[in-house]
Amino acid sequence: MQTSEQFFQQKKELLGVELNEVQKEAVLSTDGPLLLLASPGSGKTTTIIMRIGYMIEQKRVSPARIKAVTFSRASAKDMEERYTSFFPHLEPVDFSTIHSLAFKIFREYFYKNNQSYQLIEGNDVPQGLHKRIILRNLYYSFHDENITEDQLEELMIYVSFLKNKLIPKDNRSTVKCDVPEALQIFEQYEEQKRTYSNKLLVDYDDMLTFANKLLSQDIEILTKYQRLYDYVLTDESQDTSLVQHKIIEKLVAKHENLCVVADDDQSIYTWRAAEPSYLLNFQHVYPQAKTLFMEQNYRSSKDIVTVANRFIKRNKNRYNKNMFTENPPHEPVQLHKMANYGEQTCHVVQTISSGHTYRDFAILYRNNASSVILIDALDKADIPFYIKDSDLRFFSHWVVRDILNFMRFSYDLSRVDIFERIFSKLGVYISRQQLDHIKGSHKKYTVIDSLLKFSGIDQKHQEKLKRQQEYFRNFHNKSPREVIKTIREDMGYEEVLKKLSKKLGFNFDGLREIIRILEVIAQQSGTMVEFAKRLNHLESLVKQSKDNKHLDAVTLSTLHSSKGLEFEHVFMIDLIRGIIPSESDLEASEKGEKEQIEEAVRLFYVGMTRARRKLELISYHRKFSLHVLSSEFFKDVKRIVNPPQEKDRADKYSFAEESKAKLPKNPNAVKSIGELSPGMEIKHRVFGTGEIMIIDDDIISVQFPTYQKELSISTCLELGLIEPV
Ligand code: ATP
Ligand code: MG
Repeated sequence: MQTSEQFFQQKKELLGVELNEVQKEAVLSTDGPLLLLASPGSGKTTTIIMRIGYMIEQKRVSPARIKAVTFSRASAKDMEERYTSFFPHLEPVDFSTIHSLAFKIFREYFYKNNQSYQLIEGNDVPQGLHKRIILRNLYYSFHDENITEDQLEELMIYVSFLKNKLIPKDNRSTVKCDVPEALQIFEQYEEQKRTYSNKLLVDYDDMLTFANKLLSQDIEILTKYQRLYDYVLTDESQDTSLVQHKIIEKLVAKHENLCVVADDDQSIYTWRAAEPSYLLNFQHVYPQAKTLFMEQNYRSSKDIVTVANRFIKRNKNRYNKNMFTENPPHEPVQLHKMANYGEQTCHVVQTISSGHTYRDFAILYRNNASSVILIDALDKADIPFYIKDSDLRFFSHWVVRDILNFMRFSYDLSRVDIFERIFSKLGVYISRQQLDHIKGSHKKYTVIDSLLKFSGIDQKHQEKLKRQQEYFRNFHNKSPREVIKTIREDMGYEEVLKKLSKKLGFNFDGLREIIRILEVIAQQSGTMVEFAKRLNHLESLVKQSKDNKHLDAVTLSTLHSSKGLEFEHVFMIDLIRGIIPSESDLEASEKGEKEQIEEAVRLFYVGMTRARRKLELISYHRKFSLHVLSSEFFKDVKRIVNPPQEKDRADKYSFAEESKAKLPKNPNAVKSIGELSPGMEIKHRVFGTGEIMIIDDDIISVQFPTYQKELSISTCLELGLIEPV
């Protein structure tokens, strides 16, 4: 048998990876508890894989007795692929999520006790039994109105949070949820699952809580699973929840051969009950534990590592690590402030088209909504893409369906069935009875003519309906883009959305954005039919895109799903205030609750540390004619990359100090940046009256009667140079 040094030497020759001393120590410390806390790109996953290979090749451990657990199915797959590429000659090892392990334990119990259960999440859920539907119905029964999609998301997270944190019954009321009566709904939900027919209904989180309970109470199952694995390893453990940690604890209690790998700076799921603080506790749970730290980054260029390391330090609640690299510099991190959203798309697509290999590129964004226009543009440029967590919700969104139904109705104005779907969106009051009344009318009348003739609609609404009919008739003389504009502006659809949002708690900006996205997609379609086909085409592209993983394709991913991955060239797009950090992060931060904004910082950091050699951060001034502000994280990075020169600061300071002494105080002067907004009229002491066009970082761009001027906000505030008009 070869020595461990020979093992490392052989791997170096075969795989080109020469482990450093800490990595080697982690590989060799196979027995007993080990916590490996390390920076991004420091080789955590690589070390786990090597460790597994070492145990099998050197220590003759059977692959079947090793269990490697990670956060998501996608990362389990990635680990498995890395293992196969490192050790193609070895038997497979069980890489899985903790959920799949919990499911095995749980199933075993039901089998043993001859009980039946029904999963209520996933693909094969019988109609009406899906978790979402049960929660939706419960909400309705409590409030007599439908739950919005946003509220449903929040309720789902709340339910999951309570279980993953193992919050005892008496403490549940301390957990906040904005959905009214969430706790009562949760209790009813639990009750329904317990008492449904002859089967127990089970959601994904129940699998975890059940497995944890079974391992505590059923000695037979506990012994069986403890005997199943001799070595357990968990990657991305900063995102493991309390109940998951507890399952692992029980599983390894006999031998404590547990290797936990984590980076607290990459903890991005505390909103979903991840428990990174458990890592602080590791030494208490396992007094024999060894802790190793790895700070050398092997992934990224020096430029990227230096900037990312400085950026993460704005967080206070963290282990003080110092990520460094011996990799050479490549080129500075690029920050682009584009004029508008369209330029961002053009820049990304053009850069990718001029590259050599598509799979070198990744486009990362905070929200899935960012992907639709990109997909449209990539498809037009014939660039294949892979979407990690494709989300088809855009295409079936009711706003998209409304717009298509407006268009379809215009082809045959006698179609009551289509009219029925949009009549409440026309800004004209038509009752259900009035509509039912004309259902049997003769086909020779249009629906609107029948309503005017037979249903007793009052004069004012009659006039409006006639106008709406004229708009429908004119659709055919317009391009699809103009049609959408007519729908939203002239026909008042956007106004209807605004009212609906107020009444039902929808996010109006989000709905308006969907229409603007449709307008962009419609740009190159000649007819409404072509436009509908284009949407269908894009939807099927998104569906297929998950199969493109191993092709030469650009990766599109949310920042969350990019965890653990690496790419030669990364674009982080839509770096806008309100997106990242999100409105809710900012609100929490204003209230002094810093945890949420620190998590947003970590998410940004995860994104930056995916890049090997090139990192481009993109923000812009305008999105769909609205003025937007750069993300403060974007500005932070900008300051790190281009620090203000000491000399400039000194000059500015002495100028400001000198001027302050000379100028009398203006009591009406604007005193804080929050008082300024685009479109506001101001009076400048020297330049007179003008309108603020753009606010960006420390600069305002003001349109004075004959010229536009850029002014430093801090100087203006310090010297009291501007006042509102
Ligand atoms: P993340 O925190 O993003 O999950 P990680 O710590 O798991 O990152 P890996 O993905 O294992 O890091 O490694 C990052 C890159 O560094 C990979 O390309 C890997 O091959 C390389 N690498 C790791 N260790 C070494 C080493 N000792 N020598 C050279 N390259 C290495
Ligand atoms: Mg990793």
